[in-house]
Amino acid sequence: MDQAIHDVAELVAAAKRIVVLSGAGISTESGIPDFRSGHGIWQAYPPVSYQEFMTSSEARQRYWALRQVLHKQVQGAHPNAAHIAVARLERWGKLAGVITQNFDGLHQKAGNSPERVIELHGTSRLAACQSCGMHFPMDEVQARYDAGDRDPRCEHCKGYLKAATILFGQPVPVAELARAIELAHSGDLFLVIGSSLRVNPAARLPGIALESGALLVIINLQPTPYDRYASVVLHAQAGEALPCILAAARLAEAGA
Ligand code: ZN
Repeated sequence: MDQAIHDVAELVAAAKRIVVLSGAGISTESGIPDFRSGHGIWQAYPPVSYQEFMTSSEARQRYWALRQVLHKQVQGAHPNAAHIAVARLERWGKLAGVITQNFDGLHQKAGNSPERVIELHGTSRLAACQSCGMHFPMDEVQARYDAGDRDPRCEHCKGYLKAATILFGQPVPVAELARAIELAHSGDLFLVIGSSLRVNPAARLPGIALESGALLVIINLQPTPYDRYASVVLHAQAGEALPCILAAARLAEAGA
């Protein structure tokens, strides 16, 4: 473990354009449950598919009931040591950008510039009309829900409103995906943090980075399909490993 941390630190110290891909595993230490872990609230509130959302008012009400739980969790969540380490990489001038599968906003809360964070699965800070595409601050829609509007509609066209995040069965936003692919091409070190790399299109990004000549480092509790292509794999909690890696990388750079 110590040797692996030392090896990653050397790679970080040598890198000039680090691209981070983060998944649910980076935020579990901030108290946000993993969508696919099958525990807790996902059993109480089974996820609603996009098709169900668009065709059933009962499904939309289930969706909004689940959002209440998520909204409170995300609002109350604080960035953990892993998010803070990624923000430090940006201040250090080494971070090309962050691609995240999360919609909790914790990278931005930790201090990463919003323009450097690509939210591949969307954001829950906005609500989007599913008919005209107009966006509204989630806080406003939330206030309407709290006042008793259980199936909130667009003020302009009466289309269904839902968070600007993707549900099962809904494609990743085209613009975000294009930016993520471009970013994956542009880095010299691709750092996966807390993603099992099993959900497309995020799962394709390490391959794109490798083809472009970047080195790959994976920090994730479970094995991933890309482990054998990585220069270093750390099966560790990101919030424990990353602060050590950054401290060692600073030392390595100072000593170089
Ligand atoms: Zn609309």
